[in-house]
Amino acid sequence: MRYNNYHKHTHYSNIITPDCIVKPVDYAKRAIELGHTSICTTEHGYAGNIFEYYDVAKEYNLKFVFGIEYYYVDDRFAKDKSNSHLMILARNQHGMKQMQKIMSEANKTGYYYKPRIDKELLFQLNPNDVLVTSTCVISYINKHDSYEDNFVKPLHDYFGDNFYLELHDNTHPMQVEYNKKILELHNKYSIPFIHATDSHYIYPEQDKDRTEFLNGKNIYYPEEEGFILDYPSSEDIFKRYEQQGVFTREQVESALKNTLIIDEFEDIKLNKEIKMPSIYPDKTHEEKMGILKEIIKDEWEKDKQAIAAERHKEYLEAIKFELNIIEETKMEDYFLLNYPIIKKGKEYGGVLTRTGRGSAPSYYLNKLLGFTEVDRLDAPITLYPTRFMSVSRILETKSLPDIDFNTADPYPFIKATKEVLGEDNCYWMTAYGTMQESEAFRNYCRAKNIPMKEFNEVGKDLDVYRDHPNWKDIIEESKKFIDVIDSVSPHPCANLLLSQPISEEIGIIKVGDEFCALIDSTTSDYWKYLKNDYLTVTVWKIIADGFKSINKPIPDVRTLSRLVDGDKDVWNLYKNGLTATLNQTGTDSGTPQVVQYKPKSIRELSGWVSAIRPAFASMKHYFLNRLPFSYGIPEFDTILKESDNFILYQENIMAALVYTGFPEDETYGLLKAIAKKKPGIIEPIHDRFINGFVKKTGSEENALKVWKILEDSVGYGFNSSHAYSVALDSIYGAYLKAKYPLDYFSVVLNIYEGNTKITAKIMQELSYFNIKVLPIRFGKSKAQYSPDYNSNNIYKGLASIKFLNAKVSDELLEISKKHFESFLDLLVDITENSSINSKQMKILIRLDFFEQFGKSLKLYNSYLKFEERYSKKHVEKTKEKRLIEIKEYIEELPNEDISVQDKILFEKEVLGYGQTAFPKVPKAFAMVVDIDTKYAPRLTLYRMDRGVEISLKVERKHFFDIYGDQLLHKGDIIKVLKIVKKPKKMKVDNKWVDSDVMEDILTAWEMSKKYENNSCIIN
Ligand SMILES: [Zn+2]
Ligand SMILES: [Zn+2]
Repeated sequence: MRYNNYHKHTHYSNIITPDCIVKPVDYAKRAIELGHTSICTTEHGYAGNIFEYYDVAKEYNLKFVFGIEYYYVDDRFAKDKSNSHLMILARNQHGMKQMQKIMSEANKTGYYYKPRIDKELLFQLNPNDVLVTSTCVISYINKHDSYEDNFVKPLHDYFGDNFYLELHDNTHPMQVEYNKKILELHNKYSIPFIHATDSHYIYPEQDKDRTEFLNGKNIYYPEEEGFILDYPSSEDIFKRYEQQGVFTREQVESALKNTLIIDEFEDIKLNKEIKMPSIYPDKTHEEKMGILKEIIKDEWEKDKQAIAAERHKEYLEAIKFELNIIEETKMEDYFLLNYPIIKKGKEYGGVLTRTGRGSAPSYYLNKLLGFTEVDRLDAPITLYPTRFMSVSRILETKSLPDIDFNTADPYPFIKATKEVLGEDNCYWMTAYGTMQESEAFRNYCRAKNIPMKEFNEVGKDLDVYRDHPNWKDIIEESKKFIDVIDSVSPHPCANLLLSQPISEEIGIIKVGDEFCALIDSTTSDYWKYLKNDYLTVTVWKIIADGFKSINKPIPDVRTLSRLVDGDKDVWNLYKNGLTATLNQTGTDSGTPQVVQYKPKSIRELSGWVSAIRPAFASMKHYFLNRLPFSYGIPEFDTILKESDNFILYQENIMAALVYTGFPEDETYGLLKAIAKKKPGIIEPIHDRFINGFVKKTGSEENALKVWKILEDSVGYGFNSSHAYSVALDSIYGAYLKAKYPLDYFSVVLNIYEGNTKITAKIMQELSYFNIKVLPIRFGKSKAQYSPDYNSNNIYKGLASIKFLNAKVSDELLEISKKHFESFLDLLVDITENSSINSKQMKILIRLDFFEQFGKSLKLYNSYLKFEERYSKKHVEKTKEKRLIEIKEYIEELPNEDISVQDKILFEKEVLGYGQTAFPKVPKAFAMVVDIDTKYAPRLTLYRMDRGVEISLKVERKHFFDIYGDQLLHKGDIIKVLKIVKKPKKMKVDNKWVDSDVMEDILTAWEMSKKYENNSCIIN
């Protein structure tokens, strides 16, 4: 007997709580196996990825059914965790929209551990558009005593024939008890039965897989023990009900038969047509083109001021050419929509890249509309507009234009989008996280109680263990978890833009603190929804903050190009490897390569960006060393002139095709075709190319040669506008660093605060610019690192210090504007007028923050006394009396400093590095600041003269005495007598051998000042 399995779960339910490892397609296959005809989306709390369900349904020729097993409470605003399950199916498209809408509302306003709908939302549904069931044992009926009056009766009244009592065939005693209750309700109210399987896997034996998946995540559902949650045949169902012994055969038959009501549901349709939102829904294509042309005309009037009059004709032709592509592809809405969004986003303080990503900057209209400031006609390398958008490509692939908007912060642009399109018309997309092989393996090991110390190493490199007798089977078995969804997050940049309300069309879920449209980025491309990528790009935050710091607007690309042209200060940064925090050139692998190449222009740096990619590896040596290179064909060299005769860009190949007579519009498509080398397609391109080349040059031999070169190098090419943008993003930073180093370094120290690796890189560059990071000082230091223009140094930011924060820092800066006769006056003011606590005061004193008032030990002890005797709460009279007493005490204190050793150790503790140094001390003196005795003893020594650290090994005999006690301790100051260089040992085939890396070994030293931990400082 056929039935419809509408109540089931897949791994999409895992985003609420880990639950399943099966996927939609597994249900489709089982449905076919059993001769069933439908597949339903039902998941916990939402409907999963309906697009995937829809495609699977089409592929297996099954009816697509939309369902959600909601969480239900009486009042979604109450802190009620009862969360009864409530199954609802959509009878038609309207039903689906209404269900999505209340699901979205559950996420927006009903979220309390789970997204919950309530009475109010439930009774908003049109009873004729949905089917509601009493659901599983976690039904309202089993959770609340008032279930008859509060649930069964009202639902039966409201939904009428569309309300069913759901039967499950589980033989678990809890189910049997519950079914008796259901039977009573049936007898009392004549509500029909409907059978549900509540499948969490397909076959009974998969129960084990699911349990292992959950156990691996340390999740146990003891109450589910004994529940079979498979997708059974109707024969098995009858047997199980018979075992239960609650219902008659007729009742079971009717329950199964009632699932066939789903056959009568109206078909729900989803489509893969382009869903371009429009802000002019009532206007025709012609009218909208008219509006766009007006905008372009206005913007051109402004832009042409910066362009020499003799080139205007060329620009006007470019505008015409590009407008024509928009006209023919009917994509005007895309530009009409983004124009006000970007404009408003900027008005809201949003910083958009002046360059771009990918091919977008190669469209001059994108510049006029404010999406980039790259002017392709002014670029030192060829940028083809058709690389961004061409008639043939848009129409053939039905693709949408796609601009990635790099921003310093996406939120102003999201705010603008919502304002232009509507609050419910723009949301982050969802990103599902799936288990990768290594995590799948680890999860399985945990489920099998294999100790972590055994599997951890294996998990790091499974390839090594694939044939290992102990691990082989485990690795194989764990594969069942690969690709299982186990997390969800907002997409890092993709936003869905839609004219229709997203909460109804797509659904919205709460993910962390964000609301996300229930569609992932890949699905959106495939189903042709419009995606706007608002990326957060640190480089643009640096540039924006940098120009703000020097109080100048960010120059446009044209201006910047003029500013850096031939400027030695800028290009020397690359030559000298001073590239920390500069785009691309500042990475560990980028820096040595840019030093090797020494770019001297934007054109050259763009070439470098393209040349360091793996695809160019075979030619990189020639390029980076500037060795003469030519293919030996003069006409071809001319085409490749702008990339120094190399094929660096896809545009080089496109240019060769244009040269031989192919229309530009086709060339990017041809490039892809050449790369695929598909027989039947490649031959005519080949012939046309050879003919064209011969016609131009007369040489068939050269024509064939060039074709071969193109064929071989078609994979190398990089998009020139992307390379150009990457280079410019680097140069914007380089310009700031070269011309305004004080501001630049202050900005990056703030941005990378807490990132010790990058901070260390930055610190290393400061001496080149004669800049020091000054220790924190009262009256000088702000919360953030800040430039001191008089001394050409940077004050460390207070907020970057452990236990301090911006508020304290602002208060201190405010207080410092007053005049204080003594430290005591200051202490009174701080106590009366700030939120600074004792711990923070002690840190500041020990870091010499109040240096101007005396030496640290004196100040410290003064503060201890003050803290003991003075209180804000005392009456004025007491205060006066006590202050006299404290003053006398302080006057008696000698003006002494905290010991050097204590000071440096404390700096290490709260700053992460020492800052006290004594330039006059001979360089052999160093303090032990760290000791690692895990292997051969290793010391971190702090050089007293320069305040820098070095790490070296010590021979055991110089580290332990004859009794095995340590000779050296943290805080000891030693005189280094001898360091020798020895080859570092490495393990080869289980034997220790010398490597060619040398390391320093301390072989002789003498104690200069032992650290006595009897300091007067009480921590
Ligand atoms: Zn349930
Ligand atoms: Zn369920």
